[in-house]
Amino acid sequence: MASIELNRVSKTYPGGVRAVQEAALSFRDGEFVVLVGPSGCGKSTLLRMVAGLEGITGGTVSIGGRVVNDLPPKDRDVAMVFQNYALYPHMTVRRNMEFGLMRRRRHGGLLARLLRPAEAAAERRAIDAKVDAVAGTLGIGPLLGRLPRALSGGQRQRVALGRALVREPQVFLFDEPLSNLDARLRIEMRAEIREMHRRTRATMVYVTHDQEEAMTLADRMVVMKAGVVQQFGTPEECYGRPANRFVAGFVGMPVMNFVDGRAEGGAFEGGGLRLALPASRWPSAPSGPVALGVRPGQLRVSADAAGAAVTAEVRAIGRLGGRMDVVLAVGATRLVARIENDARLREGAPAGVAVDLSAAHLFAPGEDGARLPDAQDRR
Ligand code: ADP
Repeated sequence: MASIELNRVSKTYPGGVRAVQEAALSFRDGEFVVLVGPSGCGKSTLLRMVAGLEGITGGTVSIGGRVVNDLPPKDRDVAMVFQNYALYPHMTVRRNMEFGLMRRRRHGGLLARLLRPAEAAAERRAIDAKVDAVAGTLGIGPLLGRLPRALSGGQRQRVALGRALVREPQVFLFDEPLSNLDARLRIEMRAEIREMHRRTRATMVYVTHDQEEAMTLADRMVVMKAGVVQQFGTPEECYGRPANRFVAGFVGMPVMNFVDGRAEGGAFEGGGLRLALPASRWPSAPSGPVALGVRPGQLRVSADAAGAAVTAEVRAIGRLGGRMDVVLAVGATRLVARIENDARLREGAPAGVAVDLSAAHLFAPGEDGARLPDAQDRR
């Protein structure tokens, strides 16, 4: 088992693309960390630098207290699982799974068989037993004799996981391993990866562009944008205490509503809304240009518009079974509310809107504006 330290790690590709800028992160031994962010934010580059598949242009990477910058991948005791499985097509599932083990023993393997046949046979049995055990837990035991082309996508992904598992490395690295699978299978495999983490207690670093996947898998997540770490925290922290507007908008679905406006004299005004900003929540009484951030679940919508603080028009209703997403227009401002089903709401009809500010946020202006401190930050 091993911790991972990234000390101001940077990567500039030839040509000048600054894919990762001064990432300073410390992953605990046995932790499940997810690197998440939009496509091109540098998460795969960061992972590949930990794996040793990409050179590091600045800073140091340590695994288990040892700087590994100059160590080749095979000497880092990491196992990597990719999106495209990378199974050997001409080898059976069993051969694919034991391949990493055999390779590690190659030197002396043939000699051992010649000189110490009993020992070699014992080792062979140990490898078989390990592959059988891992295949059993992943439910692919009956497939061990097949070639990869005779497997479904989900089965291939299980084999790729199994191949990493039998090696019992200190660190598992995953690069979007589930993105080729359909939605249902993805959810099933996520649960399996979590379970695998619980059982092995290995350090795992997992890359995905999918914030929901990050939220469900991570002990802590690293949210990245344009090569720069925006926040490193638990899913609850990134969701409930976002560092800035980018994180607030990236984490959580449906996406947080943002309304640009001004704070003045204990009130927010902008986008057709005027709301009191309780001093109990914002003791610092912000003033000047701000953006208000409200999650769809923090809006209440009523078909009874008369007397409501804010009047809106219902533009569209998306039905989700028990709940519905309601797109509202307040003047030129669009808001999305996620509410319990309300049969009285009609597209094109007016509605009353109330904003629950108890979990809302204020941000400095601009698309990456920092979250302004509130009462919770003082505790
Ligand atoms: P992500 O995994 O978040 O999608 P990447 O780490 O793959 O992002 O890429 C980060 C940035 O580095 C992107 O702008 C990408 O175009 C660039 N990049 C990735 N690989 C290379 C490469 N081999 N040469 C030059 N630029 C690259």
